[in-house]
Formats: sequence, structure tokens, C-alpha cells
Amino acid sequence: MKEKICSYIDTQRDDFLRDLKSLVDIKSVREEKKEGMPFGEGPAKALKKAEEIAAFHGFDTVNFENYAGEITYGKDPVLMLLAHLDVVDEGDFWTYEPYNMKIENGRAYGRGTTDDKGAMLCCLYAIKAARELFGEPKRGVRLVMGCGEETGSEDMDYYFSKREKLPYTLSPDADYPLINLEKGRFAPEFTGHFDNSGEKKIISFSGGTTGNIVPCKASVTVSGINIDEIKTVADEISAITKTEFSVAEENGAITVSCLGVSAHAAHPVSGNNAQTALITLINRLPLSDNGVKSAFSALERLFPHGETDGTSIGVKLQDETSGELTLNFGVLHFRDGCFRGSLDLRCPLCANEENVKNVIRNKFAEKGFSFVGEPSMIPVHFVPEDAPVIKTALKVYEEYTGLKGECLAIGGGTYVHDIEGGVAFGIEFHGTDYRIHGADEFAVIDELLLTAKMYTAIIYELCY
Ligand SMILES: [Zn+2]
Repeated sequence: MKEKICSYIDTQRDDFLRDLKSLVDIKSVREEKKEGMPFGEGPAKALKKAEEIAAFHGFDTVNFENYAGEITYGKDPVLMLLAHLDVVDEGDFWTYEPYNMKIENGRAYGRGTTDDKGAMLCCLYAIKAARELFGEPKRGVRLVMGCGEETGSEDMDYYFSKREKLPYTLSPDADYPLINLEKGRFAPEFTGHFDNSGEKKIISFSGGTTGNIVPCKASVTVSGINIDEIKTVADEISAITKTEFSVAEENGAITVSCLGVSAHAAHPVSGNNAQTALITLINRLPLSDNGVKSAFSALERLFPHGETDGTSIGVKLQDETSGELTLNFGVLHFRDGCFRGSLDLRCPLCANEENVKNVIRNKFAEKGFSFVGEPSMIPVHFVPEDAPVIKTALKVYEEYTGLKGECLAIGGGTYVHDIEGGVAFGIEFHGTDYRIHGADEFAVIDELLLTAKMYTAIIYELCY
């Protein structure tokens, strides 16, 4: 079976690369919506091209008003393969052309070669291989091509308002071997007002801008304190926090800037939070006693620099299946006695309103802070390891790659986060940086073909 599948897919190499180039060369970045094009022209053009490719290979497509396209092969489909045709903006620093795919040393360079146009084609070629090798399936297979994954997955909201979910869903839009658990998320905003009297005080504080990033910069402006005194404290705190401080005086006020390391909130431990480092420094300055001083000191006690597991605010939680809770203190701004900030927590299965939301609410209340509005907790996405789709995918993975097949739990969300029973399978192999969302994104051509082979085998196992 494996040999049969592999040799068929290998005969498709040139066609595959031709089709991939025709998709990659279309800049399918979301733009302003137009009549009949909810994500603008680019994504709609890419879907039109995908429809042409599908037609060339003998498949009909259903177009869901340019939110998504769908190809179904066989009756009563049970397996949905989900990939997307939109891409993120190319950004800077490319040495290749982002929208003119080039092949070099077994790699295809261009935006979307891996994420996720390459992945989409793997699914299409897998369905074609199944048709050519095994004929009509007992239970059908369906490919869904979304056009809005990179900008919040509204494509799937629309698609699923028109279509039922299928028993099995696999999406090659993340990592191998397979992701069966995506942590839940709690991202509350908070605020607080405090008295700021006295001579030696904080005028303003500016930390990160988005909750889901570990802030790499922060700055504070203080008045009434001697610059040399601040520099001495800065040196001390710099050594402890491993961040860099710069101190400058202007019109009698002194601004201290801090440089840390940014990281995604799903992985806060790989960053170094400039905001919490700067708060540590502030609390070592000889400030006048007032509410703002107490508030900064409370924030340090709740979110000490270097802590990313929520211990101090009382939400350190973990379980065997999903690992530990992570907390990123991503945003803080202060001016005129008023604080506004936000957190981003990635929560394990054992987390709930009682042991996370209410605990934080109470701790905040003790210190004079409160939530802005009523923040909600996004639940964990979890599919048990003994689900047939997981057992099949991992068995195929081990057979085709020779690597160990195992389930992964992650802090981020994938394309299947809201699809019950859905799992992410591929497309990135561990150990390679495909520069997804960065400059010079590429795909390894043999790996794309391997993905197509594995998906063919999975279709055979689940549909025939
Ligand atoms: Zn993607």
C-alpha cells in the first residue's frame, strides 16, 4: 500500500509544483472587503485559482461566497481536510520574491509555500491519489479551503453557518506529529485609579501594546528624583532582570526606558518582560508615599519579573494532559493616576472560572484594580488520544516518517480550535524553521510530497 501511494504521488511532482507556483504567485493578503469578496480581491483570486486547479484534476468546487471553497469526493463525507489560501503580508527583508515562487536546492520559496497553500495542495493531491488508486470511497472525503484564517477565521464562522461539521477533521496548518490539545485562553483587561500626590512621583508609564506579546519595551517618566540615584538603581536592577535600561533627563523630568525580549504569549518563558523589569526598578526609587506608589508595588507582588506561571496571583495550575498555565502581563499604561493593563493566560484543562477568573478578580480587588467589562474564558480544545482520527494519523505518521508519533499540547490556537473533534496534523516538521510569516518562507518539496502521501493513506484508512 505504502509503495503504491508513494510511487503515485512521486509521479505528480511536476504538476504539484506548477500548481503551487500558480497559487503562491497570487498575493492573497486580506484587504478591504468588496462586493462578494469578504476578504478583498487577493483571497478571492487565490480561491478562483484553486477552483481552476481542482477542475483541471477533475473535481467540482462549491464556493461559499469567497469565504471558503469546498471539494467533496464520494458520498456521505466523514473526513474533512482543512487548509487555507490566504496569507499574511510579506513584510520586509526578503532575498527571494514573496509572490514569484522559485525552486532552489529542493525548496520552494515564496509566501504561502508551506502556510498554507502548499498544505492545501497536499490535501488536494491526496484526494486525487485516493481516487486514482482506490476509486470511489465508501464514505466521502472533503477538502475545505478557507480564505480568512490569518485574520481571525471568520471564514469558518461563515462556512459552518452553511455546513455541518464532519466526524473527523484534520488540518495541516500547524506542527507534526499532531496537536490534540490547545489551551484555553483568558485575556482580561483591568483598570484602577489612585491618588498621585507628593513631589517625587511617577508621571507616566508605557508598557506593551498587545496582550498576546511579551513586551520588549517599556518606559516611565518620573519627577523629583535625582538622576544619579536613578542610574544607580537602574544598574542594580539591570543585573538582576537581565534587561537594559537607559536614563535621560528632559525639562526636569527623567525618563527611564527598558529593553527586554519579546515572545508570543503562548510561550512567555522565552521572552524577557521589559514592563515587569521596569516596575521592579520603579519600586526601588525613593518615591513619595501615595496610592500610585502602592499600586506599582502591588503589581510587582502580583506579577514579579521572570514569573510566567501565575504563582503570585494564585493561579498556578497544571495537569498531566495539558501542562501548566502560562501568564503574560502584556500591557500596562499609566497617566493621571489611572492604570490600564491586560493579561493573557493560556489555561490547562483543569482551569475554570472559579480557580482562575474569580481568583484574579479578587486579588485585583484587594489591590484596588478591577476588570474592564466581564471578560470571558475561551475553553480548551481537546480531542482524546484514542479518537480514531488520531490513532490513524499517528500510525500513518510513524509508518511514513519512521519518527515517533505522539500528541502535542500547545498554548496557541490552530485552525481547528472551534471544530469539535478536529486536530492539527502537520505541516511543519520539528527542527526546521520554515520562516512562516517571516521573510523567505519556504517549503521542502520532498516533505510536501510526504504530507500528500500521508494524507492519502489516512483517507484510505478512514474512508474506504
Ligand atoms: Zn496557516
